[in-house]
Amino acid sequence: MLFDTHVHLNADQFEEDLEETIQRAQDAGVEYMTVVGFDRKTIPKAIEIAENNERIYAAVGWHPVDAIDMTEADLEWIEELSSHPKVVALGEMGLDYHWDKSPEETQKEVFRKQIRLAKKVKMPIIIHNREATEDIVQVLKEEEASEVGGIMHCYSGPVDIAKECLDMNFMISLGGPVTFKNAKLPKEVAKAVDLKNLLIETDCPFLAPHPNRGKRNEPAYVKLVAEQIAELKGVSYEEVSQVTTSNALEFFGIKS
Ligand SMILES: [Zn+2]
Ligand SMILES: [Zn+2]
Repeated sequence: MLFDTHVHLNADQFEEDLEETIQRAQDAGVEYMTVVGFDRKTIPKAIEIAENNERIYAAVGWHPVDAIDMTEADLEWIEELSSHPKVVALGEMGLDYHWDKSPEETQKEVFRKQIRLAKKVKMPIIIHNREATEDIVQVLKEEEASEVGGIMHCYSGPVDIAKECLDMNFMISLGGPVTFKNAKLPKEVAKAVDLKNLLIETDCPFLAPHPNRGKRNEPAYVKLVAEQIAELKGVSYEEVSQVTTSNALEFFGIKS
């Protein structure tokens, strides 16, 4: 049994074959998923998919790339949705310095607002980080995010920062890149971080694991991530799937 903790089944890429994609995931042993919504379009769709599927949950937040678009009304809307029975976390939120649509200062402000909201509604947070590791850690510390904890989604930073995140009550989630031949850091992290602190994800439709790299990613492929972690750690696939699934169920507060 597997838990894909970060999927975007709410993306346009799955509009044509959503049901079949969910079926393929179940056939591959992926029993649970969290669909992540991050703007006005993807949030309602994440909730809708979670409402229609017993073992699919939703997370709601505002993506840093679009930080400049977030209004106070959007933040209030996210707060209202946080009490929805299928919403298990806030996010994704964070910092993304790869794209320059939203200035860094605006991104930080929107990130801080969402951390404060998470503390208010007592929900863990899902962190998106692209080329902003130092600033993310600094904001998490300043806002005392350890009070709610969360997930460093698709973590690709070094081992020492991963350990710093663990100390702040965060889980490390590994995705497709851990399977890439040239991905040194994710492989080091997979080896160094205790299995009890690891989660697995696809971040589909993006970042498909080897040998599907470059294709549309989908939740069924999270199995490839689990297999790679098992190989790197020298433990069985069963152990990785069992422990990461129970980690995720506990983290999201889901009774299996
Ligand atoms: Zn992300
Ligand atoms: Zn994502």
